[in-house]
Formats: sequence, C-alpha cells, structure tokens
Amino acid sequence: MLTLTTVAGMKEAARAEKSAGRTIGFVPTMGYLHEGHLSLVRASKVAMDTTVVSIFVNPAQFGPQEDFARYPRDLERDAALLAGEGTDMLFFPEAADMYPPGFRSFVEVEGLPGKLCGRTRPGHFRGVCTVVLKLFEIVRPDKAYFGRKDAQQALILKKMAADFNLDVDLVLCPIVRDPDGLAMSSRNKFLGPDDRRAAVVLSRSLAEAAAAIRDGERRPEALIGLIRGRIAREPAARIDYVEIVDAETLEAAPDAGPGRLIALAVYFGSTRLIDNLIVPAKG
Ligand code: AMP
Repeated sequence: MLTLTTVAGMKEAARAEKSAGRTIGFVPTMGYLHEGHLSLVRASKVAMDTTVVSIFVNPAQFGPQEDFARYPRDLERDAALLAGEGTDMLFFPEAADMYPPGFRSFVEVEGLPGKLCGRTRPGHFRGVCTVVLKLFEIVRPDKAYFGRKDAQQALILKKMAADFNLDVDLVLCPIVRDPDGLAMSSRNKFLGPDDRRAAVVLSRSLAEAAAAIRDGERRPEALIGLIRGRIAREPAARIDYVEIVDAETLEAAPDAGPGRLIALAVYFGSTRLIDNLIVPAKG
C-alpha cells in the first residue's frame, strides 16, 4: 500500500493511475476504521482497478463545541486494516496542506443541510461538501463509496455531484452493524459499558417501527411516538430528533410509505449517535 501524505503527491499518483487507464475507487473517511469503512473498501476493490482511501479528520465540519480534538485517531491500526484489505493507496494529508493560510472557498448545498442533523450541527455539511469536493479533485475517482448510515450526508453529496456535473459516481453502501444491531461508528468508542448496552435502543426502536409498518401502521406521528417512547425508556438517552421524511427532500413525510427515510439522532452523555431506516417496499 502506498501512503501519500501531501496533496501534490496524491494528485501525481492519481494522474499516473488515470494515464495508465486504471479506474479509481475512492473511500473518504475520518479514520479510526471499523467494518463499516472496510465494507466500502471491499465494494471498491471488487469494482475498480485502484482503491484509494483517505483519512482526514476534517476540521471544517466540526462546530466549535464539537469533538474535533478528541475524535479518535489510530493511524497505525488503520493502515494495517487497510493494507489487509488490499487498499492500493492511503491518502493522509495534513490540515495545513488541505486548508493553507488564506483558504476562502466553501461549498454550500442549499436547503438540505438545514434539516435533520444540520439543525444541531450548523455548518457541518458545508464543511463536508467542501472537503469532499477537494478530495474528489485531488483523487479524481471514477466512483466514490459512502455509507447509508450518514443518509443526509449521502443525499447532500449526491446533489453536489449532480449540480457541479462532477465526473464521479457516488455509490451508497448498506449500514454495517454490531451483532446486537448498533450501527458501527468511530464514536461508539466514547460509550461507557452502560451507554453501550443502552445504545442498542436506536436500532431496536427502528426495528419496532419497521414491524409496525409491516402490520399496516403508516401514520408518521404514531411511528415517531413509538420510537420516542421506546428510546425514552433508556434513562441515559436524550433524543435530538426522530423524523420520518421524504428521502429526496428531507421534508416531513405525510405517510411512512415505501422509500421514506426514518432517521434519528440520540445523545448518550456528550456522544451523539445516528441511525436510520428506509421503509422497504412491500413484499
Ligand atoms: P466517517 O469516517 O465516519 O466520516 O465515515 C466514512 C464513511 O464510512 C462514510 O461514508 C460513512 O457513511 C461510512 N460509514 C460509517 N459508519 C458506517 C457503517 N456503520 N456502515 C456503513 N458505512 C459506514
């Protein structure tokens, strides 16, 4: 595995792959990798000639009160995991190289970032879009792989790619979960044993909503009430939001029909976890 630590070095390596006629699959991450990240690497490996993974804890997407400084980092372990998956290139840039003094340009997708997670994380998606556009320009991928765990992020990035006519396909991959159902996340590390046990309520409450939908319940307020009630039984959990929305516009949906997005964010102490479910087609 080749490790590139500068923007210039990564650009040159990507250019060489392109001129050799090799397709590039790209997996942007913030590191502290788990099976969710590795599933994206595997999806790229089977489809593309060269797989590039970036690890960059992007300061532009963290609010001043958020966990940028304590976001978990373990480059050695990450590099070993990536090498084990046959990753071709690891891009690990420094913040000063990505955002040199005088940096002034940011990408705003209008509307969508004001919903769901954007309400408690103002500026978050502006930071995400800015870094991902930069990374796309540096790595020049044919396909880029993202997890459905971050459903709003995936939707916003797809909109950015379409609006800017970017030459990259965004491939969305399923949520990878721990055996008890908790969606994998680098932030799960922050959960103490009690909160970790309690956090299973996120996926359980979504599963209960899915069961109610299978039984014919379609009213968003009834389903949201069910999810909220289930989560409220965990004293350590503090709900940020539970919403049922149109999966394209993120507007509140009038019903919980097939294709709707049920999304939630819940705090355990200062750790904020997200999970979601797309209502399946009947069958
Ligand atoms: P992060 O390192 O948290 O920025 O995530 C990097 C990529 O991995 C994003 O596209 C995430 O959506 C994806 N990802 C994170 N957790 C999971 C998971 N449990 N399952 C699938 N994809 C994930």
